[in-house]
Amino acid sequence: MDFENGIGSDPEIQKAMQDELKRQREGLEMIPSENFTSMAVLEAMGSILTNKYSEGYPGKRYYGGNQYIDVIEKAAQERAKKLFGVPYANVQPYSGSPANLAIYLAVCKPGDTIMGMNLTDGGHLTHGWKTSETGMMFNSIPYHVKADGLIDVEEARKLAAEHKPKLIWIGATAYTRPLPFKEFAEIAEQCGAYLVADISHVSGLVVAGAHESPVNYVHIIMTTTHKTLRGPRGAMIMVTEKGMKKDPELGEKVDKVIFPGMQGGPHNHTTAGIAVALKEAATPQFKAYGNQIVKNSRALAEQLKKNGIKLVTDGTDNHMVLIDLTPFGKGLGVFVQDALDQAGITVNKNTIPKEPASAFYPSGIRLGTPALTTRGMKEPEMREVGDLISQVIQETMKILPNKVLPDDKEARQAAIRAFKEQLPSNAKFKELKARVLVLCNRFPLYPKL
Ligand SMILES: *Cc1c(COP(=O)(O)O)cnc(C)c1O
Repeated sequence: MDFENGIGSDPEIQKAMQDELKRQREGLEMIPSENFTSMAVLEAMGSILTNKYSEGYPGKRYYGGNQYIDVIEKAAQERAKKLFGVPYANVQPYSGSPANLAIYLAVCKPGDTIMGMNLTDGGHLTHGWKTSETGMMFNSIPYHVKADGLIDVEEARKLAAEHKPKLIWIGATAYTRPLPFKEFAEIAEQCGAYLVADISHVSGLVVAGAHESPVNYVHIIMTTTHKTLRGPRGAMIMVTEKGMKKDPELGEKVDKVIFPGMQGGPHNHTTAGIAVALKEAATPQFKAYGNQIVKNSRALAEQLKKNGIKLVTDGTDNHMVLIDLTPFGKGLGVFVQDALDQAGITVNKNTIPKEPASAFYPSGIRLGTPALTTRGMKEPEMREVGDLISQVIQETMKILPNKVLPDDKEARQAAIRAFKEQLPSNAKFKELKARVLVLCNRFPLYPKL
């Protein structure tokens, strides 16, 4: 064994990596928070930059030998500032969740009141959900969506006036319409709160001009870098001009919370990957890419509707489509997710507005087009994908004996197990999987690997 010759020295891990590459190539990746990075980003990630310690910030490091790391981190900061039109950017957060915690700690004290979109309405765990540390450390007042699936701005206005939160989040993980930045800016203004846009899901669309930018409305912007933005796993915290006006020290406060407050050495290989992704995101090709994501998602939504599938908000304006399975029964997301998996389509089950089942066994399916768009697929392929998904749902409903997920835990597990066991031998799913493979092979992924 010679580890200096590469990953071949660890056959167990090498095999799992090769299997994962094959899985990514041969399936339709439709989890809306996932994407495929460019080869340039991959190379930055798998580089010698991982060897270096760089605690601190460019020009202010605790260790020596950081002259080249400084070049990389400064480039990432400058590119982020230019791309999003902000005066300040921190590119060191290890991921989105720690970035959000850092934002809380920069502007709040434990016990302060905060407001975010309820998790089961489409918000993120870190926006104050009860099982997240953010829901335990702060007094969390969630706002919701209305029965039509749109954010209940009036409820948020009332709650903010009553509870006077210190910080308000606008951002989502399961929402198919434009985020109402302007309305939330008024709400935050009225109670003096910091308004933070968490654009993790839509930042690539924002850059492409396919979703409005929050830059003129909010004080702070957080985005993960690995979703529609197509970078490595990581995150950035940006302070807007409006944020600097509210508190001229806001940038420094964020810097101090990230380091030394929360983190140690930045992941320099990730910082390089972020810098490369931001350069890519500034190109006309990326603008076309971001707009194509939305066109694809609209084409997918239209096809599903044509096939009689019900959608939350009846359609989409972004990269995501939410299927409402309640016309078929309650809590059926788990079955459709497993069936789609069997057919080579990767998605996740999701709650729908006014979820009639539970957060663990919800009645919806969340689909996204960013990864398929990266592979080069366009509207005709989305119509085909829409038909494939519709057929999976129809077959699932045909073979499901009971259209209600049992409440009893044992009975529920048994029902899910029994359903799963029959999937591999089902002729319809075999046929659909073969069609998925043909489609995938027409759009090669990482041909150089
Ligand atoms: C993905 C996401 C996060 C968290 O990102 P991680 O990198 O998974 O920690 C936070 N907020 C929103 C809105 C997200 O979509």
